[in-house]
Amino acid sequence: MVRGGELLDEGLTLPAQPTVVSLRRMNQVLDINLGRRTVRVQAGAKLSDVDRRLGAHGLGLPVVGDHRDITAGGFASVGGVSAASHKHGLFIDQIVDLEYVDTDGRIGTCGRTHHTERFQRILGAGGRAGIITALTLDAIEVDKDHTWLTTHADRFLDFDSFVEHAHAEIARPGNAELQVGRWVDTAPLKVARPVGTGHVQLGTVRFGQWSSLYPTAPTRGLRARREVGSRARKSLGAIASAAPGKAGMPVRNAAAGAVLFAPKVQTLRDAEYLADTALSSSERGPAYRVGVFAPLSSYTSVFYRLHDLFSGHRERTGCFTVISAMTYGVRSRYLRAESAARGLPPEDHGLITFTCRLRPAALPSELLRDIVSGIEEICRSENALRYEAE
Ligand SMILES: Cc1cc2nc3c(=O)[nH]c(=O)nc-3n(C[C@H](O)[C@H](O)[C@H](O)COP(=O)(O)OP(=O)(O)OC[C@H]3O[C@@H](n4cnc5c(N)ncnc54)[C@H](O)[C@@H]3O)c2cc1C
Repeated sequence: MVRGGELLDEGLTLPAQPTVVSLRRMNQVLDINLGRRTVRVQAGAKLSDVDRRLGAHGLGLPVVGDHRDITAGGFASVGGVSAASHKHGLFIDQIVDLEYVDTDGRIGTCGRTHHTERFQRILGAGGRAGIITALTLDAIEVDKDHTWLTTHADRFLDFDSFVEHAHAEIARPGNAELQVGRWVDTAPLKVARPVGTGHVQLGTVRFGQWSSLYPTAPTRGLRARREVGSRARKSLGAIASAAPGKAGMPVRNAAAGAVLFAPKVQTLRDAEYLADTALSSSERGPAYRVGVFAPLSSYTSVFYRLHDLFSGHRERTGCFTVISAMTYGVRSRYLRAESAARGLPPEDHGLITFTCRLRPAALPSELLRDIVSGIEEICRSENALRYEAE
């Protein structure tokens, strides 16, 4: 097994005699080329660290994940998406070349202009095509600490309008630096009445929000509000992560809500890691996740079909509680080339991810098989691709 950073994740299932290769100590920034606007890094370098180093030269990485420990090699081996992907594509679109060690122990290099087939095979391969040891990445001119963004949010109470709106925004993002849509659908909430008198049904909460973040020049007052807001969200995240079990549920829900109701004005760097500040700590407990790249021509259909698949299973079997979705645009050279290689028109895509919270007793394997084959059928018939990082 290959690990980008920390040796092992909690709960990771290991083979009987595991051999784990960790790139934790191969974490150096090797070279920043200001003329070419590229950066050469070892594969275990954390993208948040690389981005900070570039910041000192007025440069930055166009696509970083929303949590600070993701490494360059780990992101390259899954593809790498972010709320800036409607503009900049996938992380792997930014890789100029890389060095790797293959399964026979041979060291090689490949890139956009040499050994391109090998390059294509290693990118997004999840470590199965060899271990990436170093990468050269494109950087862009940007000052992430002084680029201020204002959020324009549209809220929805019905799913169809949310999906239609998301499709329109992905197709025409205007000058949005970041964009993201989130949909939340709880199972009917029940609260216990005083002992012995049953439950009260509170009904289902279904709502969505589309957020587009545009460049702005903030006033002093707005900057101050951003300071207060970001401190509050950080504390909420910290409290949520220390509040396990049923009792901690309200705090974790509040932390998740903090992402939906993001501050009106924030810096690009804060906005990129907003989910890391508040949400990751709230995302505890078992969940089933899936991510799909849908071509824009079948985006709405894929979204409806995935939604119906999960909510149908919830209705029939009660296996899920909260079902939430996240979506944004992805304009990727890599995905266009993948489509072309399958004889399809080269289209832009939308990423659609679903996270379904499991009831503790939850998902028997035959039900899981049903769900997986349902997703595969949707992908096959709609020319969509699974995102394996999910
Ligand atoms: C909280 C959280 C937030 C996330 N946010 C995003 C996000 O915003 N966007 C997104 O696209 N993804 C996101 N992900 C998924 C993340 O991108 C992938 O899990 C990524 O692989 C993590 O990289 P890592 O450095 O932690 O790799 P690891 O978790 O150590 O490894 C993950 C995979 O990459 C392979 N791998 C690692 N290093 C190398 C290497 N040097 N060479 C070859 N293979 C290697 C491993 O074999 C394994 O299959 C998130 C994950 C978490 C837990």
